[in-house]
Amino acid sequence: MRSSWDVGIQAHHYCDSGGGGRVNLRQNTRLRYLRISGILGTILLYIVSHIDSFDLETIHFKLAGSNTRNIKTVEWKQVAQVLTQPGFVKLQNVDLDMDCYSDTESHDCSCVGWVAYIRARTSILDNILHLSVCHFD
Ligand SMILES: [Zn+2]
Repeated sequence: MRSSWDVGIQAHHYCDSGGGGRVNLRQNTRLRYLRISGILGTILLYIVSHIDSFDLETIHFKLAGSNTRNIKTVEWKQVAQVLTQPGFVKLQNVDLDMDCYSDTESHDCSCVGWVAYIRARTSILDNILHLSVCHFD
C-alpha cells in the first residue's frame, strides 16, 4: 500500500496574462510538494523567492513552450542561490521540464544546448536539479 501525506498545490498559469502568473505561496508554510506548470522561465525567480515552506522536499516546474531566447533570459544563478538558502534545507528534488517550440519554418533551434547552459549556472544545486527538454517540431 502506497500512501502519501504530502501537501501539495497545483497551479496552472497561462502565458497570455502579460504580467505573468501570480502565485501566493506565503500561506503554504508546511508545503512539501509543489508542482507548477505552464509558466515562463522568467517567473521562476519570483516564485522561488515567495516560498516560505521549510518542509519543501520536491519542486516540479513545467515551463510553457520556450525558445532559446526565453531560456537565456531566466536568472538561473539567482534561482539556484535562493534554492540553496537555509529555508530549503529539506529540498531533495527540483525537476524542471522544458518544451522547445520553434516558431520558424526551418528548425535550427539550439535546445540541445539548454541543459548545459542551465547546468553551468546552477551548479550549486548539484544533483538535486533534474532537467529535461522535450523537442517539438
Ligand atoms: Zn528544439
